[in-house]
Amino acid sequence: MHIRSAEFTIGAVRRADLPHDGLPEVAFSGRSNVGKSSLINRLLQRRNLARTSSTPGKTQQLNYYCINQQLYMVDLPGYGFVSGGVGLRGKLGRMTADYVESRPPLRAVVQLVDVRHGPTDLDAQMIAWLRERERPFLIVFTKVDKLSRNKLNKRLAEVEAQGALAGLSFAMFSAVSGVGRDDILEWIEENAEVKQGTATWAT
Ligand code: GDP
Repeated sequence: MHIRSAEFTIGAVRRADLPHDGLPEVAFSGRSNVGKSSLINRLLQRRNLARTSSTPGKTQQLNYYCINQQLYMVDLPGYGFVSGGVGLRGKLGRMTADYVESRPPLRAVVQLVDVRHGPTDLDAQMIAWLRERERPFLIVFTKVDKLSRNKLNKRLAEVEAQGALAGLSFAMFSAVSGVGRDDILEWIEENAEVKQGTATWAT
C-alpha cells in the first residue's frame, strides 16, 4: 500500500462523532507508551501527525486519519490508564470496546505489544478478547531496535512457548529503523478491503 495522502480527520469522543461516509477503517490498539503514535507516524511517513510523547494516557479519543481518501486509520485510546476488565473501562473504554465490537466499517485491528515486555496481562486479555471477535487482527511487536538480534530471537522463542500467539499473524516493527513498515502496510491493504480506483457515485 502506497501512502499518497494522510490527514487528521477527527478526534472522536462520542459515537455521534464517528464518520458516516462508510470508508473502511483499521484500528490501532495497545497500552499507553507501547509506541502507537510512533508507529502511525512512521507508517504515514509523517514526523508528527500522530503526536508522540512519553506521557502515558494522552490519547483520550479515537483519532481518525484519512489515508489516500480511501481508508481511515483509527488510533484507539491507549489502554492501561483505563485498565480493568479487558483494559477498557469507563465511558471512553466502553466506547472503544463498543467500537471494536460493532463498528460496521471496521475491517481489521492492529494490536501493538512492546517486544521487551509483552504480551503483558492486559495485552493477553486484549488478544483473547480480539480472538473472540470476527475481525482479522495483526500483532505487531514494537521497539525491536531496543533488543539485540540474539535477545530478539530469545524473546520470540519465549513468546511462542507461551502459546498466547498460536495461530496469529504477527510482525516485528521499529519506528527508529522502519523495519516492518512494508509488512504492516501490506497486511492492512490485504485485510481492509480498500477499494482501488476513483470513487463511484451511487445514483
Ligand atoms: P504511544 O503512547 O503508544 O503513542 O507511544 P509513543 O509513540 O508516544 O512512544 C512512547 C515512547 O517510546 C516515546 O519515547 C518513543 O520515542 C518511544 N518509541 C516508540 N517507538 C519506538 C521504537 O520503535 N524504538 C525506540 N527505540 N523507541 C520507540
